[in-house]
Amino acid sequence: MDSAFYDSLASSALQGEELSDAVCEQVLVDPEVDVLSLLNAAYAVRKAHWGNQVTVHILNNAANGNCPEDCSYCTQAKTSDVDIEDYPMKSREEVLDEAKLAYENGAFRYCMVFSGRGPSKTRTAELASLVSEIKATYPLEVCVSAGLLDDDKAAVLADAGLDRLNHNLNTSEEHYAEICTTHTYEDRLNTLRAAKRNGIEMCSGLIAGMGEPASDLVEIAKTLRELEAESIPVNFLLPFEGNELVTPQGLSPQYCLRVLSMFRLTNPTAEIRIAAGREFHLRSMEVMALYPANSLFLDGYLNAKGASSNRTYQMIQDAGFEITSDFGTEQLLASAERGTEHPVEIAGKSAVKTIDDLRPAR
Ligand code: SF4
Repeated sequence: MDSAFYDSLASSALQGEELSDAVCEQVLVDPEVDVLSLLNAAYAVRKAHWGNQVTVHILNNAANGNCPEDCSYCTQAKTSDVDIEDYPMKSREEVLDEAKLAYENGAFRYCMVFSGRGPSKTRTAELASLVSEIKATYPLEVCVSAGLLDDDKAAVLADAGLDRLNHNLNTSEEHYAEICTTHTYEDRLNTLRAAKRNGIEMCSGLIAGMGEPASDLVEIAKTLRELEAESIPVNFLLPFEGNELVTPQGLSPQYCLRVLSMFRLTNPTAEIRIAAGREFHLRSMEVMALYPANSLFLDGYLNAKGASSNRTYQMIQDAGFEITSDFGTEQLLASAERGTEHPVEIAGKSAVKTIDDLRPAR
């Protein structure tokens, strides 16, 4: 592939033009595509919209397990045998304390994740009240992930000041029934549309490695472009023994970088986040993911503990990027240099595995 190919990827994306499905698939699977040149093209687009900033996100798993749904990749599904710590919604005090901790540790946005199909009317009101108190106390952006929502519930959360709703599409319409039977792709799309109609920003992403063909990832990328998703978490399936779907398929570090680049080129202005699987699947290429992506989760995922905060901060700094947070890069890195581990154990509360636990024995 000559340099004109990569130049045209970058210039099309910078001009807001939609890449054809064929080109997107080429980016994902064509062996003639050189991954370093592809990353360079994706980086030009990332830099134009996000500079050298890396936005750090911290997840708070505010209600874990006991979900009646059967998403086959999820440790909280009724069909999963993974021995996670089930707990109902954390107390108000606990959630507020954790919002404070997230703020003090430099988080720009506080994400609360609640397991389950979707909130009842009463639960929606509780969530709204928490959101308004956090917003009144800390200069944090607040994001909630709470399952399926209709227009009425989205309106209640919007009125409380919710900045962003997370609700992942996860996979393509065609592949959806393969990974979940208790709700549909359409249900998920309707939730996203309800959020949009009520003025809530949209965070919606995918899980790669669930047996989907590359063309399905292109379809998700195009759908999120059409929906104008502000934020796209790109997850790579983690192999939890006990889930219905255990084994990730086709996820080499190079393929993960191609996936992230394709999402950057198709959604040039979106916040592209390296989510679950960052440490596990990218391995020694992890830092390269910051060239297409401009954000990441710190410290872990719903039921898996990730790399330490200090290691992640150091990686960001070593590559010449800057952390977006209320505390600023200097304070965070001074702490890293002192070897002080940030006391961010929020996602880790329910973590049953570390990333190393998930790796196969060699
Ligand atoms: S992804 Fe959400 S809805 Fe599906 S099983 Fe897990 S917690 Fe339940």
